[in-house]
Amino acid sequence: MIFSADIEDWQQSVYDFDREVSSRVVRNTSRLLDILAKHSVTGTFFVQGMVAEKFPQLVKSITKAGHELACHSHTHRRIYDLTEAQFRDELHRSVALLEDISGEKVIGFRAPTFSVRDEFLDWYCDALQSEGIVYDSSIMIATVRSCYGFTDDGILQRIRNRGLDTYPMSVSKLFGKNLPVMGGGYFRLYPYWFNRWLAKRLDHNTSVFYMHPYETDTNEYHEVSQLVDISPKMAVHQFARRSSVEAKLHRLLVDYPFTSFREKYYSAKDITLMPASTSCAVAPAPHHYPIPVHL
Ligand SMILES: [Zn+2]
Repeated sequence: MIFSADIEDWQQSVYDFDREVSSRVVRNTSRLLDILAKHSVTGTFFVQGMVAEKFPQLVKSITKAGHELACHSHTHRRIYDLTEAQFRDELHRSVALLEDISGEKVIGFRAPTFSVRDEFLDWYCDALQSEGIVYDSSIMIATVRSCYGFTDDGILQRIRNRGLDTYPMSVSKLFGKNLPVMGGGYFRLYPYWFNRWLAKRLDHNTSVFYMHPYETDTNEYHEVSQLVDISPKMAVHQFARRSSVEAKLHRLLVDYPFTSFREKYYSAKDITLMPASTSCAVAPAPHHYPIPVHL
């Protein structure tokens, strides 16, 4: 099974894209690094460019601990809210930063909020390949919310036809419908036994677990709700059962063997470890274009 984590700061990546990335991301990611170290597990860390920009030492801690470094865009704006030029800019900035800090070639990408769609698949795949990305892990084969998801797995072949590898999130069939399992809000909200029961139907060799370090942050709601209005729906959707995640993670890491995408699929392949260019001399961020926030 693949262990993956999306490294972002909730208040910037979900609540307000123009907010500063806060140091909570450092505390939360460090906590996750400690948990993984305790279980001797290494995985893939999809790091947002804005996080790397503000906290380069965090990127170094991730690679020093033996995890694979991959890219999770720069500002976390959804791909379908960007033009091709804006996406290429986001991608180049973030990949260049990560490679510059780590000295390693980044070969994996995960789109913010799984925001890939058929209508821009051509330029999406082309942009990834022009930055040396080898695989994408942004597809959920389950229409669970209006803003992401595919109803059938034809999308995987359409991505592969464009020369990229793709590894979808894990889903399990229940009453004829694909139910996401082993990830994000689903892992947080489901009781552990229900996650484990759904996971029985998965191919444990190829399944993908994903999470956000902020999901172990039990103090964030208290702080954020004093600063901004949090609707009851958002409170449940984003904060409910965060206190259950750390204990569930420990059980998960005991119950299943985990590795990174790179270790599982590319360790024997001739992937250059050094980036083609470690220059971070990219133009200043033109990333304050107004985009509505979907929650
Ligand atoms: Zn994300």
